[in-house]
This record gives sequence, structure tokens and C-alpha cells, in this order.
Amino acid sequence: MDDFTLVINAGSSSLKFAIYRRHESEQWRFESRGQIEGIGTSPQFSAKDADGHKILDQPARDIKDGRGALDALKQWLRSMYAGSNVLGVGHRVVHGGARYGGPVVITPEILADLRTLTPLAPLHQPHNLDAIDTVSKLLPGVPQVACFDTSFHRTQPPVAQLIPLPWDIRDGGVQRYGFHGLSYEYIATMLPQVAPEIADGRVVVAHLGSGASMCALKNRKSVDTTLSFTALDGLCMGTRPGAVDPGVILYLFQNLGYSPKDVETILYKQSGLLGISGISNDMRDLLASTDPAARLAIDYFVYRAAKEIGGLAAVLGGVDALVFTAGIGENSAEIRKRICEASAWLGIEVDEHANTQRAPRISTEASKVSAWVIPTNEELMIARHTGKLLGLGRASLSLSR
Ligand code: ADP
Repeated sequence: MDDFTLVINAGSSSLKFAIYRRHESEQWRFESRGQIEGIGTSPQFSAKDADGHKILDQPARDIKDGRGALDALKQWLRSMYAGSNVLGVGHRVVHGGARYGGPVVITPEILADLRTLTPLAPLHQPHNLDAIDTVSKLLPGVPQVACFDTSFHRTQPPVAQLIPLPWDIRDGGVQRYGFHGLSYEYIATMLPQVAPEIADGRVVVAHLGSGASMCALKNRKSVDTTLSFTALDGLCMGTRPGAVDPGVILYLFQNLGYSPKDVETILYKQSGLLGISGISNDMRDLLASTDPAARLAIDYFVYRAAKEIGGLAAVLGGVDALVFTAGIGENSAEIRKRICEASAWLGIEVDEHANTQRAPRISTEASKVSAWVIPTNEELMIARHTGKLLGLGRASLSLSR
């Protein structure tokens, strides 16, 4: 009989999952990953095996909500892997607040505590926690682990976590938390292997996906990051603006008459690349477009990235390396090149060939500051944490696919 560890990343309209498998006492192996997208509109259930071959791609109209999606996943697992054991389930949970500086095995008390953090991540936290609740009903007795996007940043000095508002407001939990921590943690674990010469130095990691942020690593620990109290700060993102003068938000309320719900929609869904271009939130569409508004969106994305690199360089007292990761960071040679060129003053020199080949090192030998592309793997990080906390054998969860 085979054992399984499941990794779940539950969002508002999608459920992503990864499956790790162990046959008898063999090592854990990455088995498959997949997603159910379009929950609430036109759900599609797809999965790929460890070699990237499609093993499922079909509409799943019966799925009406998150619970339905987990039910469908359970049925599919049963049909694919009949008679196997799920030993543990690891969840991505966006917010661990100030209290959770690392992953935890879920108990009813912890689940209730995590619900109190919902106002800090209203669009993600409820879905993450509902998935934990549903799994406890669908797979009773199977231990679950919550891995937080915020935990990795709890090593930052107090000054970097501060939001300079009055004490009573700060005391209520208003501080800089940071996000994309599982991605940064994964990159930090990969640095000694991929880039040993800079692994223990001053590194800026750029996680550029539809959500985007940067993290300053010193000795592989987070010392600062661009996202803060919510996932709205810092860089320009697909549909989020990044840093905005708070006075603009006051103006929207006081002078333009927007409601809190309107402003939430504007900030989370209508701004950033989409808001600037009026065309798309997808960098591929913007790069393919000749529309001046698309060009302006890309210019702002690069401008903001370079500006944040400068800020993090100041925090680190200089930079040894810049690492690109996530959808845009891993796949767009053009954006990497433009950000590196805008950061040339730091001593970054791109190697054109290496950059288009997506070689791990994309800077020239002469480059004072090296630049790298390292694909992230948040699911593997969750699987490792889950295995470790549940005593399932950490070392054996080291396969990197
Ligand atoms: P998420 O934050 O949803 O996990 P990803 O890290 O998967 O996002 O990144 C998704 C984004 O990556 C897409 O919206 C798209 O803009 C961008 N992307 C993916 N491939 C490319 C590419 N070849 N060139 C430019 N951008 C890309």
C-alpha cells in the first residue's frame, strides 16, 4: 500500500494541489500536480504527472464551491490511487499574523485563532481556512499542517516590521508582515546549491508573478520585504497598484464617494498592470502589444522594481546578487533584462545569451553583482514542512519537482 502527502493551495476561484507518494519504505516522490480552476464560473479540472504529461483535463460543471472542489479531488485521488493512505495534508495559508513564525499542525483552537486574521487577508484567508475545515470532514483523522506566507519574514528586525502609526493601533496588529514567504524560503534553501558563492551574502530576491514582491536576504534570512500589512504594498502587480500614497485612498472615500467595497475592488482587482494599460493584467499580453498604454504599464513595472531594488540595497548595505523567480521572473527574459539594466548603477551586467537561455546565472563574469533565475517551488516547501512536522521523513521530501 502506498502513502501520500497532499499539498493544497485553496484560493477564491481555484484549488491547486500537489501529490507526493511513498511506496512502502521508499523515498517520497513527487507524483502529480493539478488544479481546479474557474470555481463558481466554469470549473476545469486538470492534472499533470511528474514528467509534465497531462493526466486529466476536463470540465467539472458539478463543482459549485470550494467544498465541491475538494470533494472532486478526493474522488479523483480514490480513482487514481485506490487503497492508498493520505498521511498528511499541507496547506498554504496566506496569513500567520505576528504569532506564527513557522508552520503548525492544525488543531481546532489554532484554526479558530487563524480565522481572527481574516480581516488582514480578506480575499485569501477564508478560502485557505475553509479548505482545512473541509479536509477535516472529508479525511477525518488525517493530520493537517498550515504553512504561512508571512512566517519567513518574522526574522526581520523590529524597525523593518514597523508601521509608524499610534501605539494603540499598532498594538492591534498593524505592522508589516510580508508575503510570498514560502517562495523566499524555498529560494533560500536552493541558494547554497545553485549559487554557493553568494548564498550567505546580501541577496535581493524578486518574486514577480501576478502578485509581486521583493525580499532582502542576508545570510538567507529575510531582513526586509516590499509587501507589508496586506498584499497591496511595494511593486506594481497584475491588478494591484503596489505602494500608493494613503492620501489617495482618503480622497477616494472623502471626495469621490467610493465605498470601502469599491475601494477594495479597485485596489485588489482593477489597478496595477491592468489599471495602467486598460488591456490586460498578463505581462505576456502587454509585451505583445504595441499600444502606448501597454508600454507605459511595463515601463512602470520596471521602474518600480528598480526603485525597490535600490531601497533594499540600502537596507542590506550593498548587494551581492539579484535573483528572479515566479511567472514573470522565470519566463520573461525581456523584463529581467530591463530590470537589470535599470539597476546597472549597482554593478549588474546581463549576459544576453545566458538570460535568453534562462541559465541559472544570467550576469556576465565581469558583473560586480551577479543575477540569477531560480524557479520557485512553494508546494515542495509546504510538503517539506508537512513531512517534517508530521514526522514523515524530511530528507526524503527533497525531490525538487
Ligand atoms: P501567481 O502569483 O498567480 O502564482 P505566477 O507566478 O504563476 O502567478 O505568474 C503569473 C504571471 O506570470 C502571469 O500573469 C503572466 O503575467 C506572467 N508570465 C508567465 N509567463 C510569462 C512569459 N513568458 N512572459 C511574461 N510573463 C509571463
